[in-house]
Amino acid sequence: MSFFETVDPAFAAYVIGNAPVKQIATGFDWAEGPVWFGDAGCLLFSDIPNNRILRWTPGHGLTTFRAPSNYANGHTRDRQGRLVSCEHGTRRVTRTELDGRITVIADSYKGKRLNSPNDVIVATDGAIWFSDPHYGIMTDYEGFKAEQELPCNVYRVAPSGEIAAVLTDFACPNGLAFSPDERRLYVADTGRMFSTDPQHIRVFDLGADGRLTGGAVFHTIAPGCADGIRVDTEGNLWSSAADGVHCLAPDGHLMGKILVPEVVSNLCFGGRAKQQLFITATTGVYSVILNRKGEQQP
Ligand code: MG
Repeated sequence: MSFFETVDPAFAAYVIGNAPVKQIATGFDWAEGPVWFGDAGCLLFSDIPNNRILRWTPGHGLTTFRAPSNYANGHTRDRQGRLVSCEHGTRRVTRTELDGRITVIADSYKGKRLNSPNDVIVATDGAIWFSDPHYGIMTDYEGFKAEQELPCNVYRVAPSGEIAAVLTDFACPNGLAFSPDERRLYVADTGRMFSTDPQHIRVFDLGADGRLTGGAVFHTIAPGCADGIRVDTEGNLWSSAADGVHCLAPDGHLMGKILVPEVVSNLCFGGRAKQQLFITATTGVYSVILNRKGEQQP
């Protein structure tokens, strides 16, 4: 069997033909939010329904990083290497300082509570961009059921701490990624649960002044939907899907797939040479060495 499906012949050079897709950990209910800490040599990820963040260390396996985690979902690292997390249970975005203290980045907008921050990225200017769909307040499964006070927006928190709703026409914004030059912003829309609303990735032009223009559909994922997304150093976008990870060229066409036996939620690059892709997929976490390197993250 092959672990890869080539659609565009050029995809064959993106992967290493004999590198396996391996399950490195299992036993979760909805694994999400992988983030690589190269300096600590470990991967962190969320197990949302079980209210915990786990740490996987090569050669040592799994330990608990934080429990309870306030039903944390997506994570990233800022430009100082600090962990930035989306929390459903507390409906906020936080930063874990190097001494372990927790700083709240955002928990409200114009006096109303955020829904349930889902995924987050940090720009080179230090601004924190995050999506705020309502998944974590729709039921008590991945947080606490509650009234929705705000639309499902994408927000930008400036280095000054000022928060702005920058994308307001999404059904359920989810994963985010910048192109390597940060002139593009990709945002996944996973639509509303149990409906046929959008399941696609949109692309925006990001001006030097921080203004977003455009917003056309970049690619519609099938089967499944684009939840978490990441960009490699050449600008290819790697997206979660129901049958694995799909690789999309900068023009939006499907290059090929990494086949994973569970529904994929999210992914990140890491490992010694930033060419190891870590994939969170329902009950398991998988890993594969690619012939492409990831953008971002120390
Ligand atoms: Mg997500």
